[in-house]
Amino acid sequence: MRIPSSVTIGVHRFKVREGTEDETTAHGRMGFFDCKKGEIVIAPGFPKPAQFETYIHELVEAVNWVYDLNLPHPTIQDLAIGMANAYVSGKGRLGG
Ligand SMILES: [Zn+2]
Repeated sequence: MRIPSSVTIGVHRFKVREGTEDETTAHGRMGFFDCKKGEIVIAPGFPKPAQFETYIHELVEAVNWVYDLNLPHPTIQDLAIGMANAYVSGKGRLGG
């Protein structure tokens, strides 16, 4: 469950950072994706698994924006939960 400091999706490079409480939980959000600033921001002070789930959620938000998918938010939520669950429960390695 490693959260990188930046990520590339298509031709866009996004910074990933831990935010302040002021910009996250104070507004009732665990994180957010800002397409204008080109960043994914994760709320501070939560256990790593919760931060990782938030990271995957904001990653799906970013993919939705980059590829102009217009996914409804409930779909984004389900995709993110499924992807985070699959990633965390994955065992073994493919190849050498
Ligand atoms: Zn969202």
